[in-house]
Amino acid sequence: MSIRWVCFVLFTVLVVGTAQAGWGTGWRQGGQERPADTLSVEEAGHLRYLREEEKLARDVYDRMYQVWGLPIFDNISSAEQRHMDAALQVISSYGLSDPAYLYAGEFSNGELQALYDSLEAQGRASQLEALLVGGLIEEVDMQDLHEMLAATDNGTLISLYEKLLCGSRNHLRAFVRQIENRGMVYEAQVLSQDKVDAIVDSSMERRCGARRSGRR
Ligand code: ZN
Ligand code: ZN
Repeated sequence: MSIRWVCFVLFTVLVVGTAQAGWGTGWRQGGQERPADTLSVEEAGHLRYLREEEKLARDVYDRMYQVWGLPIFDNISSAEQRHMDAALQVISSYGLSDPAYLYAGEFSNGELQALYDSLEAQGRASQLEALLVGGLIEEVDMQDLHEMLAATDNGTLISLYEKLLCGSRNHLRAFVRQIENRGMVYEAQVLSQDKVDAIVDSSMERRCGARRSGRR
C-alpha cells in the first residue's frame, strides 16, 4: 500500500469514527479517551479546504508579482504563506493529512484548481485586473471564514479563523487603496457593499492574531 493510501485510510477512520462517536462524547481507542475537542467531519473538511484556499491566495499573488512586479503582491504573498503555515499547524495538531501540494498553481481540490486557473488568467490581463483579483480573493476568503466560524465552537479553530479574517481585512484595504489610487471606485464583488465599505473605511489592524486578554 502506498503512503498516500495509508494516510487516506487513517484520515477516513479517524474522521468517520469521530463523527459516529458524536460531538463531545469522546472516542475510545485502546482504552484511551480522546480529547473532547476532536474535530467533526465538517470541521476537518473546513480546515483542509482553508489550507488550500490560503495556498491559492499565495500562488495567485506570487504569479501576479512575476507578471507585474508590483510589490503589493510580493508582500501579501508572504502573509499568505504565514496563513498557510498557521492552518498547517492546526491540521498537524489534529493528526490530519495535509492536502496542499508542493507545487505552485496545483491543488488537490478541483474547485480551487478551477478558481486558480480562472483568476490567474484574469490577473494577466492588466494590473487593474490583477488588483481586482486580489480584492476578490480576500472577499471570498472572508465569506468562507465567516461560514467556518459559524460552524464551530472549537477555540483553536476560532482563533485561527479570526487571525486569518484580520489578515484578509488588511489585504482587502491594501488592494482597494491601490485600485483607488488608479482613479477607480472599488465595488464589492462577493460580500455586501456595506461590509466592504466598513472594512475599507477603517484603519489597518496591527498584530492580527495577538491575544486580546491580558494574559501573556
Ligand atoms: Zn490569507
Ligand atoms: Zn489575504
